[in-house]
Amino acid sequence: MLRAEQQVIDRERAEQRRAEAEVRRAERKARAEAAEAARRVAPCEDCGAEHTGGLCGSCWAVRSIRTVVGECVDLALAGAADLADHRDVNAVARRTEAELRAAMAAARPAAASREDVLGSDLETVRDALDTYRADALTRLARSPLADAEAVNAR
Ligand SMILES: [Zn+2]
Repeated sequence: MLRAEQQVIDRERAEQRRAEAEVRRAERKARAEAAEAARRVAPCEDCGAEHTGGLCGSCWAVRSIRTVVGECVDLALAGAADLADHRDVNAVARRTEAELRAAMAAARPAAASREDVLGSDLETVRDALDTYRADALTRLARSPLADAEAVNAR
């Protein structure tokens, strides 16, 4: 008799815990959906365009292009510049940025939309990044420091 009562109580408690867990799961889902909806309607951080999820496609492309250009400049500096000489560093950075601007301008499709131009520019700088990386590795491999390390490794 006592055991049967205890089993009923245990079953009721288990059912209560399941119901509470289901309520918590539904609340978590509702909070996540509200947060996602709020994120989707957020304006672009850079240009203020509405309902862009915080960053519109154009501004994302502009940021990506800037990032890749910065990486190209870093690689050009690593491979070619005397990093102790500010004038040399600035000259290499300006020359690299000018090369990339010229490459982007040359590759742009004629009479293209802003999105097409940004897409073309991003593709151009990404391609250039591979070239700058290869050049930097080649120059670093030929440097006196690399030669000295090769001698020491023998
Ligand atoms: Zn934007």
